[in-house]
Amino acid sequence: MKTNTKIPYALGPDGDLVSAEKAERGVVYCCPSCERSVSLRRGEVRIAHFYHTNNSDCSGESVIHKTAKRLIVEAVEEITRGGSVTLELLCENCDAITARSIGMKSITRAEEEVVIGDYRVDVVAFLDENPALCIEVRNTSEVTCEKAQGLDCYWIELDAYDVVNDSMVWRPVASALKPVLCESCKEEARETIDILDKYGYPRGICSTVFRPGQSPYIVALEECWKCKERIPVFWWDGVPFAQDTPPEPRPRTIQYRYSKQYGGSYWMNTCPRCRGSQGDNFLFLFGGGVLNSEKLFLRKEEQGDGSVTISSGRSVFNNFIRTMNGGL
Ligand SMILES: [Zn+2]
Ligand SMILES: [Zn+2]
Ligand SMILES: [Zn+2]
Repeated sequence: MKTNTKIPYALGPDGDLVSAEKAERGVVYCCPSCERSVSLRRGEVRIAHFYHTNNSDCSGESVIHKTAKRLIVEAVEEITRGGSVTLELLCENCDAITARSIGMKSITRAEEEVVIGDYRVDVVAFLDENPALCIEVRNTSEVTCEKAQGLDCYWIELDAYDVVNDSMVWRPVASALKPVLCESCKEEARETIDILDKYGYPRGICSTVFRPGQSPYIVALEECWKCKERIPVFWWDGVPFAQDTPPEPRPRTIQYRYSKQYGGSYWMNTCPRCRGSQGDNFLFLFGGGVLNSEKLFLRKEEQGDGSVTISSGRSVFNNFIRTMNGGL
């Protein structure tokens, strides 16, 4: 029925995918989905494409899905010939696009429709005999979470149309991979670790990125307002103006101190060099605060009537200003 399906790639005489732009006239090409012969349409105005000459029940979606799988396998073949695929991931810390190139050291071949455990995977890339990366191709159906969790392998999901556009750049729409940091976050993490070491903080007491499951403390660097040194300051689930004792092991510079500005005591960051208090308002609440990030959540307050006020972002700041102005 659907003779109007636009087919971007078709199978040439040797079984390889050929794009409509590069197809030769007078050669027979076949649909990658139903394998019937297709015709080429290429002109000044229209985007070049193949189409079914005879009525076909082959859907555009299945053509795109099969083409994308095939192109991924061909991209991996390109890797084995010395090429490389760019994998675009998001930095775990700042969400910046971080490109990694995949070469022969990570992938040596790929196969379509491989069964791994209980699942059939669209494409599996192997490093020698071992599955290195499972690749699912999405066009209509999303990969179920259950499937992704059941795979005991690194896994990415690519958009079929993205792959058809450019099969050498992979931009996962979902993934289960080792987290990556961009160059500038990596550099900052290195500097942070150096400074933590310099002041003798135990290794592993905090994390340089937001991983609450790994460590209760997240560290950032700040210039001490008093001695002007670059010092580590910490976030934990309890700030701002924490009254409860922070989790152990606690960085020794988090101390319970009185703040005149706040009008009471709370657990706060202090300078490892000059011992100066680093107020929560400057760290967590003001716009330029080093730990003022949307990823870091702030304290919830139980009200007397059982309701909960989420003290985060601007509302905490406003409350703080109100407190300072004497409850206006
Ligand atoms: Zn077809
Ligand atoms: Zn980053
Ligand atoms: Zn200081």
